[in-house]
Amino acid sequence: MKGKRAPLFEVKKTILVVDDEPINRAILSAILSEDFNVLEAEDGKEAIDILLKEEHKIDLVLLDIFMPYDGRLVLKDRQENPQLKKIPFIVCTSDKNIEEECFHLGVNDFVKKPYENPDIIVARIKRMIELYEDRSILKEVEREKLTNFYNREFFKKYAQQFDALCPDLGKDLLAISVNRFRLINELYGRAFGDKVLLAISAALNRYLETYRGIVGKDGGSTFIIYGEHRDDYEDLTEQLTSAVNDVVEDVGVSIRMGVYPLVDPAVDKEIAISRTESTADSVSGDYSKKIAIYNEEKQAKTLHKEELVESFQQALDEEQFKLFFQPKYNITGDKPAFASAEVLVRWISPKFGFVNPGEFINLFEENGLISQLDSYIFEKAAEYMASWKKKYGVLVPISVNLSRIDIYRPTIVEDIIRYVDSNNIPRSAYYIEVTESAFVEDAKEVIPVINKIRDNGFKIEIDDFGSGYSSFGTLIDLPFDVLKIDMQIIRSMDRNPKVRDIIKMIVNLSKTMNAVTVAEGVETAEQCAFLKESGCDVVQGYYFSKPLPPEDFEKLIEKELK
Ligand code: C2E
Ligand code: MG
Ligand code: MG
Repeated sequence: MKGKRAPLFEVKKTILVVDDEPINRAILSAILSEDFNVLEAEDGKEAIDILLKEEHKIDLVLLDIFMPYDGRLVLKDRQENPQLKKIPFIVCTSDKNIEEECFHLGVNDFVKKPYENPDIIVARIKRMIELYEDRSILKEVEREKLTNFYNREFFKKYAQQFDALCPDLGKDLLAISVNRFRLINELYGRAFGDKVLLAISAALNRYLETYRGIVGKDGGSTFIIYGEHRDDYEDLTEQLTSAVNDVVEDVGVSIRMGVYPLVDPAVDKEIAISRTESTADSVSGDYSKKIAIYNEEKQAKTLHKEELVESFQQALDEEQFKLFFQPKYNITGDKPAFASAEVLVRWISPKFGFVNPGEFINLFEENGLISQLDSYIFEKAAEYMASWKKKYGVLVPISVNLSRIDIYRPTIVEDIIRYVDSNNIPRSAYYIEVTESAFVEDAKEVIPVINKIRDNGFKIEIDDFGSGYSSFGTLIDLPFDVLKIDMQIIRSMDRNPKVRDIIKMIVNLSKTMNAVTVAEGVETAEQCAFLKESGCDVVQGYYFSKPLPPEDFEKLIEKELK
C-alpha cells in the first residue's frame, strides 16, 4: 500500500475493568485480553485514581455498580470532568432497575451479568469505542494530516504500548527538525515547506522498514521517533539530508537531530520528548553540527539552576542570604593589624543547604536577579557597620562586591548613598569592589557610574586585578583607590618565581597610581612575608581567616579591641 505504513506492532485499545469481585475481573480479563489491553481496579476510588492518571491511555471503562465507592459515584465524578467524559462507560449489572438511573448518569451501554457470549461482549465494546471516536465532538485526530504520522498525544500513547509490548528492547527518542523552517516557509511558500517535510517523512518511512519504531509529528517541523536503540545516527541524518536535497535542489535546507538514548520507560513521555526536543534545539544555531545527544548530567545541572532561580524570591524574603565577613590585615607595620573586611554572600537554604556564591552569582547575573541581591547585601552591610559602631565604638571599614549588572540600574548611585547615609556611616569607610574584567569589557558603561560613586565619597577597589587583561594604559583612566591582586597570581608565585617579579611590578604600579595594594587568597606565611617585602599594604586570605559568619566576626572584633 503506497503512502500507508504497515503497523510495526498491533495497537490495542485499553479497557479499564472496575469490579470489587476478583472472580468477575478475572472472567472479563480472560474474555478481553486477546483483543485489548486490560487494566483493573477493585473499587470506584481506585478507578477514579487510574482514570485521572492515565486518562489518555484508556479507551473504555467496564463498570460494576455495587462495590465500595459505588459505580454511580464514579459516574457522577465523570460528569464533572470533561476529560473523563470523552471516555465511554459500559455498566455491567444484573439489576434491571438500575439501568434507568445509570442512563441519566450518562452511561453508554450495558452488559448483563452473568457474562454470556464473550464474542458479543467484545463486539459491543469495539463498536462502542468506534462509535465514540466517530461521534465525539472533542474527538482527537490520531494522525497529522500532511505526513500521516501520529500526532503528539497518540504518539505518547503508542510509545507506552511499545514499551509494554517490547519491555526488553532498549529504545531511543529522536527529535528531528528542519533548521530555519519558518523562514523557508516565508521565503519559498508553504507548498515548498510541505515538500521538505514530505521528503523527510518518506525517508523516515524507509528507515522504519529496517528498524522498529513509531513516528509522531505535530503541526510544526519537528518529527519525533521512538525506535529501537542504535549507537549511531550518522547514516539516518545523511539519508534525511540527501532526501531533502533531492527534492529542493538549489535551496540549502539542513536538519538537526536530538537523541535521547535508552530512555527509561518510567520517565513521563512528555518530559522525555521535550528533553529530546531541547537537545535538538541546542544545535539549532550551529549548522555544522547535526546531532546532539541528551546528557543527563547536563540536564540535572540545568534543572538545579532553574530550581535555584525559582527559589530566589522566597530566599530573599526569608533572609536566607547571609553576609559573611573576611577580615583584611594591614602588613605595613611590625605586626599585621586588623584593618577592614570584605562582605561575601552565602546562601543558607533549607532546600539546598549551604550554597557558595560560585554556584549562584553568575546565574543571578544572567537573569538580572543579582541586582536585588546586591541591594539587600549593600544595605545589610551598612546596618552591620552601624551596629558595630554602636556596640564597640569602632568603625570597621567594609567592602562589598558590585556586579557589572548593578551598573545598569539607573538608581544605583542614589541607592548606595541612601543605604550608607541612612545608617550614619562615613562614605569613605564604604568600599566598592568592581572586578577588573567589568572595567575592561564594559568600560563605556562602567567608568562613568564608578566615577559618580567615587565622586560621592565612596572608595573603589579593582577586584581580581591581573585576571582581566587591562593594559597599563587603560589603568590610568580608571577611577580607583585600591588595587586588589588576583588570587591566581598569588597562588602561582609558589610555582613560578617570575610571578614574584610581576607582583612587584603590580605593587609599584599601584603606588604610582596612589592606590593601596591588597593581596587576596593569601594562604601561607611565605606568601605573606614576600608580599610585605614587596611593599603590598594589605592581605586577605585563609592564612589569617576564612570568611566568618557575623557572630564569629564580632568575636574577632572583640579580640582585636582587647
Ligand atoms: P571575590 O570578590 O574575588 O572574593 C574572594 C573569594 O576568594 C571568596 O570566595 C573568598 O571566600 C575566597 N577566598 C578568600 N581567601 C581565600 C584563600 O585564602 N584561599 C582560597 N582558595 N579562597 C579564598 P567566595 O566567597 O566563594 O566568592 C566568590 C566570588 O563571588 C567573589 O569573588 C565575588 O566576585 C562574588 N561575590 C561574593 N559575594 C558577592 C556579593 O554579595 N555580590 C556580588 N555581586 N558578588 C559576590
Ligand atoms: Mg571581592
Ligand atoms: Mg577577588
